[in-house]
Amino acid sequence: MKTPVAIIGGGPGGSASAMFLLREGIKPVIIEKTSFPRYHIGESMSGECGAVLRVLGLEPDMLSRKHPIKHGLHVFGQAKGSWWVPVMARGDDGNLQFQSTWQVPRAEFDQALQDEAVARGATLIQARATRPLLRDDGAVRGVEVRMADGGTQEIESELLLDCSGQSTFLANAGVTGPKYLGSYDKQIAIFSQIKGGIRDVGGTRETAPGNTLIFYKKKYHWAWWIPIDDETTSVGIVCPAAYFVEQKESKAAFITRELHELHPELKRRIPEVKLVEEARAIPNYSYQVRGFCGKGFLCIGDAHRFIDPIFSFGLFIAVKEAQRVAPLVKAYLDGANRDAPNPFADYQLACEQGLDVLEDTIVLGAPARVWHAVAPALLGPDHRCVCRPHLREPALADRDRFPQAA
Ligand SMILES: Cc1cc2nc3c(=O)[nH]c(=O)nc-3n(C[C@H](O)[C@H](O)[C@H](O)COP(=O)(O)OP(=O)(O)OC[C@H]3O[C@@H](n4cnc5c(N)ncnc54)[C@H](O)[C@@H]3O)c2cc1C
Repeated sequence: MKTPVAIIGGGPGGSASAMFLLREGIKPVIIEKTSFPRYHIGESMSGECGAVLRVLGLEPDMLSRKHPIKHGLHVFGQAKGSWWVPVMARGDDGNLQFQSTWQVPRAEFDQALQDEAVARGATLIQARATRPLLRDDGAVRGVEVRMADGGTQEIESELLLDCSGQSTFLANAGVTGPKYLGSYDKQIAIFSQIKGGIRDVGGTRETAPGNTLIFYKKKYHWAWWIPIDDETTSVGIVCPAAYFVEQKESKAAFITRELHELHPELKRRIPEVKLVEEARAIPNYSYQVRGFCGKGFLCIGDAHRFIDPIFSFGLFIAVKEAQRVAPLVKAYLDGANRDAPNPFADYQLACEQGLDVLEDTIVLGAPARVWHAVAPALLGPDHRCVCRPHLREPALADRDRFPQAA
């Protein structure tokens, strides 16, 4: 089989990529190993994620499904009370304005996105990608897949998009640069769902029942509360993996106890903890892949980097990257940069720098631009960002420092 673009993974990154490519007149093939609907964690959207869905024309569908509307998040600290972070968007005049976004049950949302990609013209193949196909010069020329009946098939593509999420298909196959542990690799997330928790009653943006709540015990030990329908709330505990191991509890026992011990406000909202979903865990979720674009391939979303669930950046990154690569893919198929060692080097660098800013925002607990503005004054002109030293260096230096990224 031959296709201009093959996409591994029919999650949000893969489905959004397909829809943005279709807008460029490119009909892609999506390869998905799992039969949807399937459970997936990651239910809270940032405002900018909602904005990308609006660009795709999906707002009416999101509204008709009555997904909880998120106007912002309340953060509950231990000592300093709570504070409110509204969802904002930049208007055409460049000024910030209030915006809203959604919280979604991922099984339903991912299925809807995938169905929409197929309805708009993408081809879906139910199969597991097993092996990238390489040319003699190392360029990717497609992928081998194993079908449900056990047979294999070669899918030849001019470009392979890896949207395989935390499976990091091309990184594991050694096609990309190295995969490094991320800043939060010693953390673990344990999560489930409850029904009937006490929500805010609404009336204002701040008291809307669909908002996200975050409860802190300390910096690396916190809980999330994400309403995903009228009744059901996704709850999760994020903490050092060592702490979880020390408790010697099952995942269900651990999360049940933590929901009552981590923060008094969280306990108040769940008078009696009854989990309605299996308790699941994801350890060491933080990583970064270098050299995630190259001849014949591009990685999108979790397939090349995941930082941390706080602030709900994951879905946004996946769909935003899908939006940004589509015109580059079109240009590549039309012949641009075909002979360059990395046809997508500029995009890759811009993408890494943007993600570095998000990572700094998370690590420092404050907008990174604020930190970068004040740090030289506080620490002297030779100061370099504490967590990602290359961030403040010019692009060329970054490429020299990480040659495999170029
Ligand atoms: C604990 C935790 C909490 C999170 N909470 C949030 C949140 O509240 N908000 C948020 O925005 N993000 C959150 N995230 C992140 C979010 O879930 C991901 O960033 C998002 O799902 C990435 O989308 P994706 O399309 O890149 O990958 P995925 O959604 O993982 O999709 C990848 C798809 O590829 C398929 N696939 C994999 N390998 C193959 C193969 N070999 N062949 C064929 N198909 C394959 C998989 O079956 C899957 O369907 C959280 C993450 C974690 C770990």
